[in-house]
Amino acid sequence: MSVLVFADSTEGKFKKTAFEVVSYGKKVAEQLGVNLVVLTINATDASELYTYGAERVLTVSNEGLSTFNAKEYAAVITQAANKENATVVVIDSSINSLYLSPLVAVSLEAGYASNTVAAPSSTNPFTVKRKAFSNKAFSNTVISTEKKVIGVAKNSFGIHENSVAGSLESFDAEVVASGVKSEKVERVTGTVTIADADIVVSAGRGLKGPENWGMIEELAAVLGAATACSKPVSDLGWRPHGEHVGQTGKPVASNLYIAIGISGAIQHLAGINASKVKVVINTDPEAPFFKAADYGVVGDAFEVVPKLIEKLKAFKAA
Ligand code: FAD
Repeated sequence: MSVLVFADSTEGKFKKTAFEVVSYGKKVAEQLGVNLVVLTINATDASELYTYGAERVLTVSNEGLSTFNAKEYAAVITQAANKENATVVVIDSSINSLYLSPLVAVSLEAGYASNTVAAPSSTNPFTVKRKAFSNKAFSNTVISTEKKVIGVAKNSFGIHENSVAGSLESFDAEVVASGVKSEKVERVTGTVTIADADIVVSAGRGLKGPENWGMIEELAAVLGAATACSKPVSDLGWRPHGEHVGQTGKPVASNLYIAIGISGAIQHLAGINASKVKVVINTDPEAPFFKAADYGVVGDAFEVVPKLIEKLKAFKAA
């Protein structure tokens, strides 16, 4: 028996979520008293995962899997899980995984718990804590199937170093063609995407108009952050729809979320609750966002943001 972790990579490189799922899998393997096996697909340097406790790493190198396809990736993970007699399969909670993990669960006849935020509180019965109701609540979920698929929520368990002398094994998986193939993926370059960002600078209707986004972009550039916005801002066409965060937009699980001129409506907060530290800049001290914030500045964005940029630039220069 084993715990199998799928450590996803993009263009060969691991994101932090890969280190988090390996850390999580290590913990579950210890709790169950079984081995941890990590699966990678087309990763450039899979040995990076040794730092997080990956003793055995299965590496799949296959040109046919160079772009993500949920059905094809699910087939590879299923083959690895069956080969390693895995009773628990751990996957991250990226947008891709929302398609991938249920397919793996179906093919393994496993129970699937998405949005898991902590190691099992009990392994018999197997009980995990999950986010519920758009991150406003938690649920304790018992998985009673023999095999289990766990989706770990980003920034929930954390990255834990646990260096081991690991080994790489080439895994010759059969690629099951799905009939759908992305021929070319063109990535937006030069900007940080919301999904990958550690820091997100987000602005709302308080900015008055699209012509005022220069200072938001400048603040984001200084911090190496992604830019985001509230729903009305993208509905008005001030910013692209891809930047809209919230219940009906993208979820944000960054380490730092800076909300500028955003009131903090429940539908907005639903999408950003998973962020660790929230900073609000708003002229209205009664704005609901202040109740959800860790730090707040009651002030005019047009005065506060330029000063913040100036201070950050001076700090970086020093
Ligand atoms: P406003 O509510 O107009 O707030 C602007 C804020 O800026 C105010 O707090 C004001 O005090 C402040 N301000 C004004 N001037 C300044 C200044 N100079 N400096 C600093 N602060 C200033 N919204 C989302 O964002 N995401 C969603 O996913 C989403 N989904 C929704 C789904 C449904 C079904 C519904 C009904 C609504 C949804 N909404 C969503 C809309 C949500 O209810 C709010 O209307 C919206 O979030 C408000 O956007 P805002 O804060 O930018 O604008």
